[in-house]
Amino acid sequence: MQNWPLLISKLIDHAAQNHGTREIVSRTPEGPLVRSNWRTVATRSRQLAQWLVGKGISPGDRIGTLASNTHRHLETWFGIAGAGAIVNTVNPRLFDEQITYIINHAHDRVLFFDSTFLPIVEKIAEHLSVDHYIVLTDAQNMPESSLPLLCYEDILSSVDGDFTWVAVGEDDPVGLCYTSGTTGAPKGVLYSHRSNVLQSWSVCMPDGFAIAARSVVMPVVPMFHANAWSLPYACAMAGAKLVLAGPANDAASLQALMIDEGVTVTAAVPTIWLGMLRHLDATGGGLGQLNRVVIGGSAAPASMIERFERDFAVTVIHAWGMTETSPLGSFGTLCPEVEKMPYPAQLDYKAKQGRAPFGVELKVTLNGDGAPVPRDGRTSGHLLIRGPWIIDRYFGANTDTIDAEGWFDTGDIAMIDPFGYMQITDRAKDVIKSGGEWISSIDLENVAVGCPGVAEAAVIGVPHSKWDERPLLIVVRQPGAAVTKPDILAYLSGRIAKWWMPNEVVFVDAMPHSATGKILKVALREQFNGFRFPDDLSTITPST
Ligand code: AMP
Repeated sequence: MQNWPLLISKLIDHAAQNHGTREIVSRTPEGPLVRSNWRTVATRSRQLAQWLVGKGISPGDRIGTLASNTHRHLETWFGIAGAGAIVNTVNPRLFDEQITYIINHAHDRVLFFDSTFLPIVEKIAEHLSVDHYIVLTDAQNMPESSLPLLCYEDILSSVDGDFTWVAVGEDDPVGLCYTSGTTGAPKGVLYSHRSNVLQSWSVCMPDGFAIAARSVVMPVVPMFHANAWSLPYACAMAGAKLVLAGPANDAASLQALMIDEGVTVTAAVPTIWLGMLRHLDATGGGLGQLNRVVIGGSAAPASMIERFERDFAVTVIHAWGMTETSPLGSFGTLCPEVEKMPYPAQLDYKAKQGRAPFGVELKVTLNGDGAPVPRDGRTSGHLLIRGPWIIDRYFGANTDTIDAEGWFDTGDIAMIDPFGYMQITDRAKDVIKSGGEWISSIDLENVAVGCPGVAEAAVIGVPHSKWDERPLLIVVRQPGAAVTKPDILAYLSGRIAKWWMPNEVVFVDAMPHSATGKILKVALREQFNGFRFPDDLSTITPST
């Protein structure tokens, strides 16, 4: 058979040729909605590639983006890939120092950014050595600046588009995304053409997100976070309509766009869906033609899954992954055996993180190495993963980050059941150890957010003189709700093992979130450093 390389340029050529008129709808940071299609995106990406090569960009060069989900950001992905270069998607919600670190560590030669992020760029530019700053806008909306800015639309019209994609191999790098590590410097994960194409294939599969030409897909997950879960590539592969919401991630704007554009599939972290459900409750609105919502990035509580499915007839696909896994490692679609079960039992499976698609191998081990523990749905341990879209070495590192057999330790604690459903119980560093047994903070949180009046819940381990550690439940109430500690404990009772019952419940006004919407346990542990359970005040020695 032929050696037909799996390249990102093949994806955009395919979309342009076979699904050329399928729409790309995008909200620009300046406000207006722009209607484009795969053919136009391909033409403009080619112009961009031509311009980049004309400026001396060579295969392997890194090019940064600091941008929300827009058609122009999409074009940079394909244009940079077509120039043989590597797109380094940088998260604008990080601290300035982290953004500076990432752009410098990657040696980004060009930086594309939304006009709304100019204040960030102006603040950090003196610490960068970027050759070209390009604002993703048109001449009319070009901002004033002391920096030598270029206008994206101007650079596109400065070339004729007569250009052949730069020849690269499928194992050559095409994407670079830094992990949102809560400690230490961010680490870069380098994606290849092949790894991105293969992962997108699995995303399109019926037991993945089932993306087809008829799908209308709105990735709310940002394009700067782990390839937007590969949805832009998967949509090019399938020829799906793509709806890009720009910077507006509030529930009202998302709902309006979803309904107006007939979105059938959407994807985001639980925090976004929490806001959406609250908005729908307050307004009595619906979700239009939406039939599937993908939830990942943090655990999707059963109560959230049930609300989407019961109240809005929208199927939830719970997915798990990491920046290091491109990012998708498992999909929570149901197998026939589970589909036959009554709904409450199905819900238990949907709340797990799902099964490995072809291309992913998962194993759980007691100590992060050695033989796997039984797939009995009870025995938990360290989750390891390997496959063609899983990291082998961080960008710029001298050594691999996998073991001799190719396994990458995810840092997650999980168990796998006999059907192959994997369930995350904790990050290894968040595990609560009580009397030598593990308590799953994720399970506790998931039950607690089901309690009426609770908006968000987080559980951390606090030192305890008798048990080593016991769970502290931290709660944000829903607006206007008066839910109390006894209400919550009564709700938990019977839903969790007795010895998991939190020793204390405290209420806070807001939860600290990371730049990707995850609850920041590190910040909570700092905030509650020195906290003592009322029953333990006399005996405990303060932690350092
Ligand atoms: P990131 O690389 O920032 O995407 O973070 C990856 C981490 O997020 C994983 O190692 C998990 O700890 C967590 N995560 C992602 N998806 C899920 C999920 N569906 N349920 C629980 N945790 C998740």
